[in-house]
Amino acid sequence: MKLLITGGAGFIGSNFVLYMINQYQHYEIINVDALTYAGNLENLRSVENHSNYQFVKADIAERSSLEPLFQTGIDAVINFAAESHVDRSILQPDIFVKTNILGTQTLLDLTKQYSVNKFVQVSTDEVYGTLGETGLFTEETPLAPNSPYSASKAGADLLVRAYHETFGLNVNITRCSNNYGPYQFPEKLIPLMIQNALQDKPLPVYGDGLNVRDWLYVEDHCSAIDLVLHKGKNGEVYNVGGRNERNNLQVVRTILEELGKPESLITYVKDRLGHDRRYAIDADKIRHELGWQPKYDYENGIKETIRWYLNNAQWMDQVVSGSYQQYYDLQYKER
Ligand code: NAD
Repeated sequence: MKLLITGGAGFIGSNFVLYMINQYQHYEIINVDALTYAGNLENLRSVENHSNYQFVKADIAERSSLEPLFQTGIDAVINFAAESHVDRSILQPDIFVKTNILGTQTLLDLTKQYSVNKFVQVSTDEVYGTLGETGLFTEETPLAPNSPYSASKAGADLLVRAYHETFGLNVNITRCSNNYGPYQFPEKLIPLMIQNALQDKPLPVYGDGLNVRDWLYVEDHCSAIDLVLHKGKNGEVYNVGGRNERNNLQVVRTILEELGKPESLITYVKDRLGHDRRYAIDADKIRHELGWQPKYDYENGIKETIRWYLNNAQWMDQVVSGSYQQYYDLQYKER
């Protein structure tokens, strides 16, 4: 099997590349990534010389760079490549439309032209919008994205659906809740808070800190995508989530506790525009139809994650560059 994995130098993509090489030594893997600020080849150091692994720097919205790869004969495309940060989508929505929508359409078109057997779109629960105090997102929940990020991901999902309906492409869409684990860029909640706490810097918490997310350890997301790739039914959407609902304050307090740091580091900052209140996933379909089971519970996963960042301080130092600092200062002005 020859896989084209896009966005494989990012957080989830790199975890997935490592996971797949470990699971399927004989698969050929081509990792296509534009290496934006979020892409980091350090994540893949351990496999860079593996005989079945190849990295290609390319933009998924640029057909001419991708076509030679499709000409080599690809069995499946797994599309992780995206602009992925909601806050950045509020500052600069246009790149989200280009990468997430036009990039996905370019990949779909090549998938069609070169008769690739399968296309897996890695999407997000954010396409469903926000929940009140109760209820869960199911695969039937109408799409109601609220941020430019989630709107661009919903647009991509609709194109995947359209290529299935119109051209008969064999597709799946996965919609996962918030991931955490190794190699996550420190603009995202958990590594950001770990990094600041370690340096005794204020921990910026949006609004009242009570927005709820449903957390899943990244390896459990990888195993779900692996199952969908091999067993997903043509045209189906699969929600992925671990029923680990925590509000932001709970997450931050756990990190402070684990690191032995005081709660006085918590600093409330102006809320994110259009901030979704609560996400929670019903993952019964993937559990029952494909037999998916997450391995990690949140309490162990978060401790393991904190340990990973403690043991990989060099990785963090390298990622937190000058341009990241400028973005950080702009984003987290104190209230
Ligand atoms: P990330 O930002 O860490 O990684 C994205 C990767 O895509 C980077 O390596 C980047 O260089 C690459 N990329 C960006 N634009 C590109 C382009 N035009 N061409 C080629 N490569 C490009 O994101 P992530 O958190 O790993 O998320 C991966 C995917 O999973 C995204 O599609 C995201 O929407 C989805 N997702 C993420 C989460 C989460 O909690 N992080 C949850 C559910 C779904």
